[in-house]
Amino acid sequence: MRPPKKLAQACNGRPFNFLTESVGDTATTAHIFGGCHMGISAENGVISTNHELFGYPGIYVTDGSAISANIGANPSLIITAMAERAMSLFPDRTL
Ligand SMILES: Cc1cc2nc3c(=O)[nH]c(=O)nc-3n(C[C@H](O)[C@H](O)[C@H](O)COP(=O)(O)OP(=O)(O)OC[C@H]3O[C@@H](n4cnc5c(N)ncnc54)[C@H](O)[C@@H]3O)c2cc1C
Repeated sequence: MRPPKKLAQACNGRPFNFLTESVGDTATTAHIFGGCHMGISAENGVISTNHELFGYPGIYVTDGSAISANIGANPSLIITAMAERAMSLFPDRTL
């Protein structure tokens, strides 16, 4: 019996997989990141440390594309934390 089936049997679970992986031999992930990674300057990043797009003042990126690399864990809380930090950097105009 193949390891996934053995593991499923051991923990009374059901093994399943994405069709693209089992038939297409193509790794699949629901955790898509990157594309607008953070940097010190436009030389090494797309956004600055306050999430502003280099060269486009006033445009901010605060979604999963701001995460530079796979964090190896469920990402929603990290995306939320980074977005909250980015928003906390805006001056509080209510004061
Ligand atoms: C099946 C599945 C299971 C997952 N399970 C987990 C989990 O258990 N734990 C976890 O932490 N993460 C999980 N993730 C990953 C997590 O959902 C994503 O990493 C996270 O939602 C990404 O956040 P985001 O803000 O980058 O994009 P999204 O959450 O995708 O938000 C993008 C938003 O932009 C909107 N939008 C798109 N185009 C436009 C447009 N042109 N104009 C206006 N709005 C637009 C969309 O409708 C959407 O609301 C899972 C993902 C999937 C697909």
